[in-house]
Amino acid sequence: MEVLNPATERVIATVPAGGAADVDAAVAAARRSARAWATSTREERLALLTRLRDGLAGAQEEITATVVAELGAPVGFAAAVHAGLPLTVASSYLTLLAEHPFEERIGNSLVLAEPAGVIAAITPWNYPLHQIVAKVVPALAAGCPVVLKPAEDTPLVARLFARLVHEAGFPAGVFNLVTGTGAVAGAALAAHRDVDVVSFTGSTAVGRTVAETAGRGLKRVALELGGKSANVVLPGADLTRAVNVNVANVFANSGQTCSAWTRLLVHRDHYEEAVSMAAKAAEKYVPGDPTDPRTRIGPVVNAKQLARVRGYLEGAITEGARVVAGGPEPITELPAGFYVRPTVLADVTPDMTVAQEEVFGPVLVILPYRDEEHAAELANGTEYGLAGGVWAADTDTAAAFARRLDTGQVDLNGGRFNPLAPFGGYKSSGLGRELGRHGLEEFLQYKSLQY
Ligand code: NAD
Repeated sequence: MEVLNPATERVIATVPAGGAADVDAAVAAARRSARAWATSTREERLALLTRLRDGLAGAQEEITATVVAELGAPVGFAAAVHAGLPLTVASSYLTLLAEHPFEERIGNSLVLAEPAGVIAAITPWNYPLHQIVAKVVPALAAGCPVVLKPAEDTPLVARLFARLVHEAGFPAGVFNLVTGTGAVAGAALAAHRDVDVVSFTGSTAVGRTVAETAGRGLKRVALELGGKSANVVLPGADLTRAVNVNVANVFANSGQTCSAWTRLLVHRDHYEEAVSMAAKAAEKYVPGDPTDPRTRIGPVVNAKQLARVRGYLEGAITEGARVVAGGPEPITELPAGFYVRPTVLADVTPDMTVAQEEVFGPVLVILPYRDEEHAAELANGTEYGLAGGVWAADTDTAAAFARRLDTGQVDLNGGRFNPLAPFGGYKSSGLGRELGRHGLEEFLQYKSLQY
């Protein structure tokens, strides 16, 4: 499979397109290593995972350069998030592994938390290393061997990760990588009868298929899927800050963030003010070369994604949305690359496609609400429930409103990301949780001994 740089449209590498036989070999290797790995001591696992964490720390520049090249993420963002966040998450699991109670007394039972078995990890391209680390590191910490099938567009950082696992000295078979397409390698892995848990991050459509297949095989399944998260600005909040943070949130990673606040909900009395603020803030995001440290927004990942985002923008205009920044017109200022104009849409109504479906591009829609009741109804009014934001005059007011939202994460007045807090979705945004203790528990199963 060819790997393209989305900023230059040039082929930068080729990787094997693994097939069912490769998946079989990888799962067999994982199975062979499973018992020894499951019975390794906490200290042995900690020592190896510490070496892996140190490997991630030592490879930060190489990781950054790889993600800039295969995803098109701006270099500053790539260094902080694509390289930095996986390091934070890997470090968090060293502490969690050191402290986790794998045995617990409940009445006359001793409850043992044992590894859940062979893990199939299937990951997308948008935060390619973070999504790998968020599955593989807790799975290994729990004592489970893993077979990873990374996204087609970003296999290079997955190969870099495989090298770091190898250099850390993990026993053979404990970690396995199969690059390949979703339809062939991904489907074979999700359906494999010797896999115990399928941990999938990607689109809701593919997630459903993976869950159906896993259901037939009675495998456990964890799904991190799409989102259409709302950022609700309540009267009395700092509107300027709420709008500026929202614009930055939605344009980060060219809008290719599952938890992005793609819908801004503002009281109708402040609506036009918020729309002008957002339009003004959007002007600062000029698409450019991701290797230039001044660039704030790079291309989207591939030609298909570019066409999809433009299609959503054209559809929104047809349905009556008002373009106040950006728009569907192609970018002619740059010589090559899959660039989209960072776009803000006003006069969006809740039934419009662009207010309901995940665009996965740098597109913010702004909707007015009448009162808090209406705001909650709009915020909850999509099939998704992954993340969200609430801004209010004080944290208590914001927290009271956040309790009404059907969503897995809510940031109050710009509260920052917590890598130890459970991350995952309500409704069609998924099943199960990643990160922190909850993420570790996804890879454990329980045995009770009564005496
Ligand atoms: P995708 O669903 O197309 O692909 C995800 C992974 O699944 C890839 O590795 C792909 O090869 C594989 N795959 C595709 N078809 C498959 C099949 N039939 N069987 C098994 N595996 C298959 O998604 P994408 O386009 O790579 O990623 C974007 C989507 O991921 C967005 O919808 C986004 O919201 C979602 N996402 C969710 C989270 C989260 O934590 N909730 C995080 C990141 C991305």
